[in-house]
Amino acid sequence: MSRSPRGSRRRRGALLALIAAALGATVVVVVLLSRRTSDDIPPTRGLAALQEDLDAGDVETVTLADSTGTAHVKLEDGTTYDVRYPDGFGPDLTADLLEAGIDVEVEERPAEPPLWADLLVRIGPLLVVFGLLGWLLLRRGGLLGGIMSVRRNRSAGDIPDTRFGDVAGLPEIVDELREIVSFLEDPARFLRLGARVPRGVLLTGPPGTGKTLLARAVAGEAGVPFIAISGSDFVEMFAGLGASRMRNLFDDARKAERAIVFIDEIDAVGKARVGQPSNGASEERENTLNQLLVELDGFTQDETVFVLAATNRPDVLDPALLRAGRFDRTLEVPTPDRRGREEILAVHARAVPGAGRLDWGTVAASTPGMTGADLANIVNEAAILAARRGHETVEEGDMLDAVGVVTMGPERRSRVLNERDRRISAWHEAGHVVCALVQTEAPVPHRVSIVPRGRAGGVTWLLPDDNDLLTLRQARAQLVVALGGRAAEERLMEGDMTHGAASDLKNATQLARRMVVEFGMTDLGLASFEPEDLQLSPYSTDVHTAVQTTLDEAMTRARTFLTEHAPLLTSVSGLLLERETLDSADLADLRAQAEAVA
Ligand code: ADP
Ligand code: ZN
Repeated sequence: MSRSPRGSRRRRGALLALIAAALGATVVVVVLLSRRTSDDIPPTRGLAALQEDLDAGDVETVTLADSTGTAHVKLEDGTTYDVRYPDGFGPDLTADLLEAGIDVEVEERPAEPPLWADLLVRIGPLLVVFGLLGWLLLRRGGLLGGIMSVRRNRSAGDIPDTRFGDVAGLPEIVDELREIVSFLEDPARFLRLGARVPRGVLLTGPPGTGKTLLARAVAGEAGVPFIAISGSDFVEMFAGLGASRMRNLFDDARKAERAIVFIDEIDAVGKARVGQPSNGASEERENTLNQLLVELDGFTQDETVFVLAATNRPDVLDPALLRAGRFDRTLEVPTPDRRGREEILAVHARAVPGAGRLDWGTVAASTPGMTGADLANIVNEAAILAARRGHETVEEGDMLDAVGVVTMGPERRSRVLNERDRRISAWHEAGHVVCALVQTEAPVPHRVSIVPRGRAGGVTWLLPDDNDLLTLRQARAQLVVALGGRAAEERLMEGDMTHGAASDLKNATQLARRMVVEFGMTDLGLASFEPEDLQLSPYSTDVHTAVQTTLDEAMTRARTFLTEHAPLLTSVSGLLLERETLDSADLADLRAQAEAVA
């Protein structure tokens, strides 16, 4: 794979410098032209001044530039000034001026630039386009290699200081990857034994689950360069560039002798080929993919380059990529479970003063579905909050608030609620809290706040329980909690209500709907409905009624709970108004109160 010789590379450099200089000059000229010097600009006066000069008969000519709403006035004594007039006032002004016997001219365009400058401005973009085209053509002849090598050298070959110890919650995957590390460390041992070592491993899983982190850790552990590229870098590349970029990437790796090549978002280049390429873009992608396959197959036994690739769409990959000798092993990187989340939080908390002492278990429990990236973000946000609040180390409050920032957006203390809204908000959140506290099947509230966040006026955080299976009673209890906010508003406002429950209603409706059409939990029966079924009106009416009934029942229960526990509702909303945020200790006290009453 010989590249173009040195001499042509130097000529290429000169040519590029020339193009750059020409483009630079154009920009400077255009900028200079569009700047008028200060003596060119006549002073601006008000309409009244013009009226005065008109009355005095001092005006010689007026030029109207209606596009900018400016009248350029020239007086008998040679003074000039501009008058701005309101939009649409041009015709009136013209009539007035004509009446006063003034010579009115109309200016079509503001300040005519000299012809050559005009041409430059008009043709400039064309020149750039032709320049680019020429550039492309030259590149076809291999001329772009110079630039490419500059780009490559920068990305190639740093040895990361990431270690497997930085990866939390993925012990099985780390074990698998250790094998690759030992191969990279001592390839001879493997080859002596005649072991066939895989060339590539595909890491699959949602974004932010640590695929890049794992790849970097493999390189870091083995002490080899990490050469990374993303499939999306290849998207919309000029024809032919993708394949040569791929080739260059692997050239770099081979030069390093031992290396990890990491291809993120491999689906962007590795999508299954379908029939004849229909357009330039897919032909380009296919060339890039073919080049990747060539590179994967081109390894000799004694080359110790290992390829890791990542995707969250393994289903769309071209099967050719997964054949033996290519990416012949796939490791699935899952979204962490509760224990995994706790471990990830702990790993990141190590780096933050004070954070390691805190109990991150509650955060782990209240963040189902979050990825490692989200969790890293929470720890980081806690550190930021601590710094902003002038704390020496991260404190528990910083940690808990950080969850709020990451899940709901930052608190918007600047959005000050007026007293009425604060009161309604406090009752609304208290409604959620009470409905959650008094039902054993409901999720446990562990924090509640009436400080506005994002678009929400207040938030109640609920701790989902550990069970994966949702029971009918739990589902019903969740609906009651969701509707508790609206129910409390009704009580406070004597039948009036606000739009503040909109997102609660949305969540509740979604759950109720699934209970009806998917979980077979209502009187409508066991039938599971596909979205297509629901387009047929008899079904859709039935489903709608069943969803409504489910919600109505929950609402009735919410109202009943709030009536039965009216004193609790009053004390929770009172506390909220006073302190704005209640934490899990406050809520535990309130729960004890609720139990004492029951
Ligand atoms: P992906 O490549 O899967 O999209 P990344 O590896 O880029 O995800 O993860 C982004 C960041 O999230 C990492 O740099 C790391 O800080 C954090 N992270 C993700 N997963 C983990 C994990 N399992 N352990 C520790 N940190 C993690
Ligand atoms: Zn609500």
